[in-house]
Amino acid sequence: MSESEFTLIERFFAHRSMQRSDVVLGIGDDCAVLEVPADRHLVVGMDVLVAGRHFLGDADPVGIGHKALAVNLSDLAAMGATPAWMTLGLTLPQADQDWLAGFCRGLFDLAGQYEVQLIGGDTTRGPLAVAVQVHGFVAPAAALTRAGARPGDLICVTGTLGDAGLGLAMVRGDIEVAERHRAYLRQRLERPWPRIGPGRDLLGLASAAIDVSDGLAGDLGHILERSGVGARLDLERLPVSSALADTLQGGERYRMGLCGGDDYELCFTVPQERLDELETVSADWACRCTVIGTVEAEPGLRCRLADGVLWEQNLKTYDHFA
Ligand code: ADP
Ligand code: MG
Repeated sequence: MSESEFTLIERFFAHRSMQRSDVVLGIGDDCAVLEVPADRHLVVGMDVLVAGRHFLGDADPVGIGHKALAVNLSDLAAMGATPAWMTLGLTLPQADQDWLAGFCRGLFDLAGQYEVQLIGGDTTRGPLAVAVQVHGFVAPAAALTRAGARPGDLICVTGTLGDAGLGLAMVRGDIEVAERHRAYLRQRLERPWPRIGPGRDLLGLASAAIDVSDGLAGDLGHILERSGVGARLDLERLPVSSALADTLQGGERYRMGLCGGDDYELCFTVPQERLDELETVSADWACRCTVIGTVEAEPGLRCRLADGVLWEQNLKTYDHFA
């Protein structure tokens, strides 16, 4: 515990402007002391980003700060939770002031949007890695889970799919993208926006939900497995951006939409008879909402082409240990 570690915490993490009234004791003691509303359950999630795996070591620190929190808020969104607090585990090769200033800008700009207060953490020296834990609230028994999808339910997604995957392929130089689409794709890769509002609107409406972090095929697969059901997807209905539509066609487009990771959209199921309600609430969302298929009793995922023919492919999504 060097002197500079405490100066660094003081300088960058303590005394940020936003102070929530439910934080009894924030940064500066051995632990934080927090007040959970009496009529709410606490929802907790954590994601770790490692340099060289989730981002390049020399990546823009503002983007790393943003994404470290965004991917966590996306998990809260998938539960329908309202964010409140975060803790931060930071491992740094050195105390680079410029890097920290940029990182904090990305982190706290997004935190401010959702009134999330940093309430503690740990700072250590080592290979660059960022662990963020988020805490939010939801009414008892109301949280959206992966387990409630039933045969007949409609499968829906927010926003567009495959943009971050295409953005990554573009940055790596694997796929050539027209100049007019490059900024949009970079934004989608580096500044994902958590679907907190949609997640809250889906409370009491969606039968199951998950956020799309590893690729739709895999993430929807988790809903199907946990719910003990299967699904049919209509590939023609997969919502894609004009950047993706202009760059990839046919099977390559479907593959990117189904398997590209890092989109942080929501995939959820809704009983068919509640489609009107979904259309009403989603009209106010900042992103589109698209029905892409139907839950079926028979296990497994069946992807259908426009002519009704099944598209049988091995759809691999991201797995750190595969
Ligand atoms: P201890 O040695 O008791 O675990 P630390 O010296 O690690 O305490 O941390 C001192 C205070 O600073 C604690 O309140 C801790 O939560 C906070 N803190 C340390 N690192 C961070 C960080 N990266 N972000 C936010 N708060 C931090
Ligand atoms: Mg202590």
